[in-house]
Amino acid sequence: MNRHLLLRATLLFIVIAAAAPILTNAQVKPARDPKQPVDEEYSKKIREYTTETFFNSPLTDYLPASPNVPTPKAVLGDVAGAPGKLPYAAEVYSYMRMLEKASPRVKVYSIGTTEEGREMIAVAVASESLLGKLDENRTRLAKLADPRTINMNDDEADRLVAASFPIYYITGTIHSTETGSPTALMELAYRLAVDESPYVRTIRDNMVTLITPVVEVDGRDRMVDVYNWHLANPKSNWPPLVYWGKYVAHDNNRDAIGLSLKLTRNVLNTYTGWKAQVIHDLHESVPYLYDNTIGDGPY
Ligand SMILES: [Zn+2]
Repeated sequence: MNRHLLLRATLLFIVIAAAAPILTNAQVKPARDPKQPVDEEYSKKIREYTTETFFNSPLTDYLPASPNVPTPKAVLGDVAGAPGKLPYAAEVYSYMRMLEKASPRVKVYSIGTTEEGREMIAVAVASESLLGKLDENRTRLAKLADPRTINMNDDEADRLVAASFPIYYITGTIHSTETGSPTALMELAYRLAVDESPYVRTIRDNMVTLITPVVEVDGRDRMVDVYNWHLANPKSNWPPLVYWGKYVAHDNNRDAIGLSLKLTRNVLNTYTGWKAQVIHDLHESVPYLYDNTIGDGPY
């Protein structure tokens, strides 16, 4: 199984699961909008590259077409997760900025730089209406985050909750050797921006999905170097990454304790600055998605 394709399927499921209470309230069931055309060529490639049909899902076995918004193919030359293509962080960002340019439902924010000076970004995807109310929403969420500001008043808290929309923050590739999430997140951003099915629209109209597609940017670019070397030298053993970033190997995901790395501080500032309700960090183990490091150790 191509792990990138599995990530694609699992990711959309997870975002939708997070929106489950909203969806249940609205009684919206997953189903493609029959009025929206499908990108047949892209969908055919998804089927071709997915080695077992049960790895796919009715939410991901087609790609909705858009007359004006480019798919990840515009940057990758093939579908997200295609064999033989691992994009550098700059290519991932370039795609996210193409989305932003083409769709009023996408905004890209620069959230700082890495130890080696590479940019980190966060991509917000939601309805145009929600994206127009981010500042006022943030003001409400900040009051809920520190209820002393409303004198611990439950009625006021209920009012703020009713007026607010949640922020679901997804981060990818904190471990640069776990390579699938950036491309899966490119496609997730496209689907959330473009799909007109009531199911996806309900997510888009009721919450902001915030995406940092690459956390360990320095390590990601090294990993792509190694992968490209492997493609050019298929008969040789490829060199492993000694460090998965500039200073650390695997343990950058423990750095939330010490905040010694810029990537940790940039993600934390985004999480607290946006007053996100969820931070969801994507990992992998062998071909499987290992999608959360919080709450049920050992780590
Ligand atoms: Zn990991």
